[in-house]
Amino acid sequence: MDPTEIYLDANATTPVLEAARKAALAAMGDYFGNPSSTHSTGLQARARIDAVRASARRVLGATEGDVVFTSGATEGIQTAVLSALSALRGRDDVDCLLYGATEHKAVAEALMHWNQLLGLGLQVRAIPVSSDGRHDLVWLRAQAPRAGLVCTMAANNETGVVSDLDGIAHAIEGSPARWLVDGVQALGKVPLDLVRRRIDYAPFSGHKLYAPKGIGLLYVRAGAPFTPLLAGGGQEGALRSGTENMPGIAAFGAVLQALEEEHAFHDLVTLTGWRDQLARALLDAFPGLVFNAPLAQCLPTTLNFCVPGVASKTLLNLFDAAGMRVSAGSACSAGKAAPSHVLTAMGLPAWQAGAAVRLSFGPADSAALISQACARIRACGAALQGGGLPCATEETRLAQWLAENGGASPAPELDAQALQQLASACPGLRLVDVREAYEQRVCGAAAHLPSILCEAVPLTRLPDAAPAWLALPADTPLVFMCRSGNRSAQAAAALRRLGRVQAYSLAGGLALWPSRADSASGQAARA
Ligand code: PLP
Repeated sequence: MDPTEIYLDANATTPVLEAARKAALAAMGDYFGNPSSTHSTGLQARARIDAVRASARRVLGATEGDVVFTSGATEGIQTAVLSALSALRGRDDVDCLLYGATEHKAVAEALMHWNQLLGLGLQVRAIPVSSDGRHDLVWLRAQAPRAGLVCTMAANNETGVVSDLDGIAHAIEGSPARWLVDGVQALGKVPLDLVRRRIDYAPFSGHKLYAPKGIGLLYVRAGAPFTPLLAGGGQEGALRSGTENMPGIAAFGAVLQALEEEHAFHDLVTLTGWRDQLARALLDAFPGLVFNAPLAQCLPTTLNFCVPGVASKTLLNLFDAAGMRVSAGSACSAGKAAPSHVLTAMGLPAWQAGAAVRLSFGPADSAALISQACARIRACGAALQGGGLPCATEETRLAQWLAENGGASPAPELDAQALQQLASACPGLRLVDVREAYEQRVCGAAAHLPSILCEAVPLTRLPDAAPAWLALPADTPLVFMCRSGNRSAQAAAALRRLGRVQAYSLAGGLALWPSRADSASGQAARA
């Protein structure tokens, strides 16, 4: 990771813990065996899986039932839904399947998919949530007697709202429904007590807690119906066939061990203190900032907020320029323009649901990182207050100008190497940073591209700057750059449409610009 980067998007994914990396490497090296083999190499691998499963049982409070390794939570959710729904065939005492309106998309999509595929024809209904993001238990209690499956996440990935699992358990008492609790975001942060709470299915995902992507696990309560999603060689006690992902399991095991030994992760009191520090910095930096869920009911590691009058895209660009990685909601919907379904379900007005920013850290982060993040948040606030936020008229003017001049075909892109080569061949090359003024204020292009002279013209000012560029000699290359390559692509396409054949966009923007560490290792490799 770039040492100057402050990663605050832990709910999307986390880096892999050092101990987990070592464990994965060992599982690919010294202990590479297939756990189904009966020779000693296989037996060693088998012993490792057994040890990790035992550790998972202790961490999850799963003293009985099954703990099955999966590829992640999406697979765990599919398996649980398939299992519960398969057992509903021919039943006339149930007519609906219920899921929290703020569940991860994987849950609602799995319910609809398997309901249709199994031909059950049950109603799939969203359990409403109130403005604090918690389930409407009165509604749930009224629906539960006819429900075949109830799905309620333990903690929300966008807001961090922690569900009232005891209240839900009470509301579905006596119902024929099985109960699925998505434990992904709760693992390592809030105790789940699966057996005591009579939870039937609980999926988890390794990459949300310092294990690699592609490993997860599913808890299945003793006696709960089970239908394998994957049939084959009978691994995992025939509950999930396919040769086990040993590096992933070993790495997840190292994380579980760290949780048990309480040395790598900070406790809830510390995490809450850090959250409060970040919340204070945000409120100081952005007057009028609103938190989208009551912090007291949220995971201590998640803050979801918006700043009236400032789009989430603006804040994301600003934070990114300052080297802080946050997101506008869940990672799966980060590329979609629609307002968050979670915040909409909580009844937040459209502007608020569309302007949200999520900042999430992990229990293995450090006090130093949080202090540094607070300092950068304050710097971002100062940069924004320094002006340069495009007003609505400027945005409209730009949109019209781009609509008139936007390229029918995209402009060619240059990667870092091609840019350096073109700059050497054409000393007159003009590099234009089209990020807005507040982004340039927190981190100018010179920090990334010290060897190339760069002028700063925010995208909204493009219509004013274009005539001067059009007057340049025809062989002067014009290269636009921004954070991710989107805005620069728009600028380059427009200039090409206006007749500048030598207009380019920097591919992937500053996000893909080789970090100093990459360049150093590249140079070392070439030396
Ligand atoms: N459930 C929740 C609450 C999540 O946050 C995620 C990941 O974003 C998932 C399920 C899906 O997990 P995976 O990436 O392991 O499939």
